[in-house]
Amino acid sequence: MQYRATLWLRDSIRTIPKLQLRPTQRCRYATAIDSPELFDVVCVGGGPAGLSLVVGLRASKTTSNLKIALIESLDLDKGRMRNPSPDVYSNRCSSLTPASVRYLQEIGAWSHIDISRVQPYQEMQVWDGITGSRIAFDWEVNTRRDVQPSTIAYMIENQNLTTALQTYLEKLGDITVISPVRVDSIDLGNSTPELDLRSWPIISLSNGRRIGARLLIGADGANSPVRTFAGTTSRGWDYNRHGIVATLKLSGSGWGGEGYKIAYQRFLPTGPVAMLPLPGNMATLVWSTVPERAARLKSISKCDFLAMVNAAFRLSPVDLEYMHSVSSGQQEEFEWRVKHSAADSTKVPMEVVDVQDGSIASFPLKMRHADTYTGERVALVGDAAHTIHPLAGQGLNQGQGDVAALVSTIQAAVETGADIGSTLSLEAYNAKRYAENNAMLGVVDKLHKLYAVGSGPIVGLRSLGLKAVNEIRPLKKFFMKKAAGV
Ligand SMILES: Cc1cc2nc3c(=O)[nH]c(=O)nc-3n(C[C@H](O)[C@H](O)[C@H](O)COP(=O)(O)OP(=O)(O)OC[C@H]3O[C@@H](n4cnc5c(N)ncnc54)[C@H](O)[C@@H]3O)c2cc1C
Repeated sequence: MQYRATLWLRDSIRTIPKLQLRPTQRCRYATAIDSPELFDVVCVGGGPAGLSLVVGLRASKTTSNLKIALIESLDLDKGRMRNPSPDVYSNRCSSLTPASVRYLQEIGAWSHIDISRVQPYQEMQVWDGITGSRIAFDWEVNTRRDVQPSTIAYMIENQNLTTALQTYLEKLGDITVISPVRVDSIDLGNSTPELDLRSWPIISLSNGRRIGARLLIGADGANSPVRTFAGTTSRGWDYNRHGIVATLKLSGSGWGGEGYKIAYQRFLPTGPVAMLPLPGNMATLVWSTVPERAARLKSISKCDFLAMVNAAFRLSPVDLEYMHSVSSGQQEEFEWRVKHSAADSTKVPMEVVDVQDGSIASFPLKMRHADTYTGERVALVGDAAHTIHPLAGQGLNQGQGDVAALVSTIQAAVETGADIGSTLSLEAYNAKRYAENNAMLGVVDKLHKLYAVGSGPIVGLRSLGLKAVNEIRPLKKFFMKKAAGV
C-alpha cells in the first residue's frame, strides 16, 4: 500500500493530475466542476521567509519540478525597490547573520542583492544604561594583528532582500505568483472520483480562485491564517513595548574608519535603543520603549526627536526620564544636559543630525511561539511560527534558518518518493528547528526582562555577568557564534 502510494506520488510529482472531465461527466459530478487548481506546494506570504522558501525550492534540482504557487496579499510588484536614491533608505532594515547570507548565497539569491546598499559591521558595543557596564562583541579584539576583522552581521533593507528574491524568482521562472490577493478561507477538500482531497487544504482567494495544496506553507506572518487553519496554538505575550524605527543621518562622514563599522545598543529600563550602520553616513534606529513614549517620540518636532535620539545614547536614565515627560523643548534640554554628561564620546555612536522624512514609525513588540511547526499537509516558517523581540536582531534570521531546514526536508521526501505533505515527512523539519528557535526565544525574552529592572540587586548582578562574559573570551565567542548562527 505504502509502495503503491509512493509510486503514484512519483508519477504525479511533475504535474499534478488535473481534473479534465468530458462534458457529460461535468454535469454528473458537481464537486468536480468547482474543483480547485492543484499544486504540490502553496506558500501563503511573500515576505522574506515566503520568497526565500519558493526560491529555495525552485533553485534546488531535486525540488525544481514541483508545481508551486505563492500567494501574497500585498502587491509584490509595487513593493519592489526601483532606482533607489543613495541618500534614501527604508526604515525597515534587518541585520542578516553570516549564516543567513551563506544560505542566500547557496541558493543563488545573494548575487541579486544591491550590495551598494548593504553595510557589514564588525563590532557591536552593548552597555547597561544604568551601570554603564559594557560588552564589546567582535571576533578578534586586536589580539592578532594579522587577522582581518570578521563581519558580525550585514545591515540590509528588507526591501532590498525581497526585491532580489523576486528578481531571481522571475529568472528561475515556472512559479505561479498570485498577488495582490488575500486568502479568504482555508478548508479541507472533498473526495472526487479522480482524487481524494479530504486531507488537502483548499485555499479560497479574494479573487474567487480556489487552490488545493499537497503541502501548504504558512509564511504569512505573526497573524498567520495558515496557522489558524491548522488549529495550532501560538503562545506568548505582548511586551507592552513599541519598537520605534527611523532612518538617520550622522554628522561628518559617518561611521568612523573605512571598512570597520560598529553597531551600538544601550539597554534602558524601558527597553534597548540600537543604532546600526547603513552605508555612508546613514544609520537605522530601533528603539524599544513603552507605547506612551513611542507616541510622543513620533509626535515631537524633528529637532526634538534628534535630541532624544542623541540623549538616549549619552544621558543618564534620570535625564531621559525628564526629557520624555515634556511635550517639547527636548533640544534645549539636551544641549545643556549633555555638557554635564559623563558619556565617553568615543564609546557612543556619532551624533545624529537629521532624520529622513516619513521614516519614523513604530511596531508593537511581542513574543509568540507556535506549539508545533507542522501538521498534516501544513508547515509554518518565519514569523508565522515565532515572533521575537528585535533586541538581538534574530527574527528574519530565524526565518531563513526555517526555510533552509524545510527545503532540505522537502528535498529528502522527494528523493525517497514520500508524500511531501505527510506529517511523517515534515517531522524532520519540526525536530530540526523547534528546539533551536525555542532556545533563542527564551534567551531574548530573559534578556528583555533582565534589563527592564531599573534598581535593586539584579542591576548589580547583571553588570557582573556582563563583565564576566566580556572578560571570558571563549564564553563571549560562544554567544557570538550562537547569535551569528555559525
Ligand atoms: C522593529 C523591528 C526590527 C527588526 N529587526 C530585525 C533584525 O535586525 N534582524 C532580524 O533578523 N529580524 C528583525 N526583525 C524581525 C523581522 O522583521 C521579521 O522577523 C521578518 O520580517 C518576518 O518575515 P516573514 O516573512 O516571516 O513575515 P512577514 O514579513 O510578516 O511576511 C508575511 C507576509 O504574509 C502576507 N500575508 C499575511 N496574511 C496574508 C493573507 N491572508 N493572504 C495573503 N498574504 C498574507 C503579508 O502581507 C506579508 O507580506 C525586526 C522586527 C521589528 C518589528
